[in-house]
Amino acid sequence: MTLDKDCVFCKIVKGELPSYKVYEDEKYLAFLDIHPILAGHTLVIPKEHSQDLLHTSPAERDGLLEVVAKIAPTIVKEVNATAFNIGINIGRDSGQVVFHTHVHIIPRRHDDGMMNWKHQTVNEAEFPRIAERIRKGL
Ligand code: 5GP
Ligand code: ZN
Repeated sequence: MTLDKDCVFCKIVKGELPSYKVYEDEKYLAFLDIHPILAGHTLVIPKEHSQDLLHTSPAERDGLLEVVAKIAPTIVKEVNATAFNIGINIGRDSGQVVFHTHVHIIPRRHDDGMMNWKHQTVNEAEFPRIAERIRKGL
């Protein structure tokens, strides 16, 4: 397995740093976020080091989402939440601070005081150009 000696999540995988584990199998690990957004905030990681989701294999991505789907309902139930957000930050400007692939599971309730993402109402005139650029870029 590829691990990075300077990576904080690799250190958790190796047991060099402690964590509050909630799930583990051969390839994946889930543990509580040390600075939770809300109670039960959990991080799911592949044990193999990679910097972000775009640097994993399709099989590893599938497996990661399988673990998220497997454990999220129990996390929600056990912290008396009613819903959850899944978050994946990719790149420093998105808020990524740990460059080891991870998925946030954040339990939510209607009265949790968190703001949902704010949407804008904009002039749609730009949409055809933006959509075309993306289509052509793919
Ligand atoms: P990012 O912003 O990179 O998507 O999320 C990284 C997350 O890892 C943050 O929410 C942060 O609180 C959490 N984190 C950073 N260092 C540690 C650590 O040593 N242990 C645990 N359990 N969580 C950590
Ligand atoms: Zn790592």
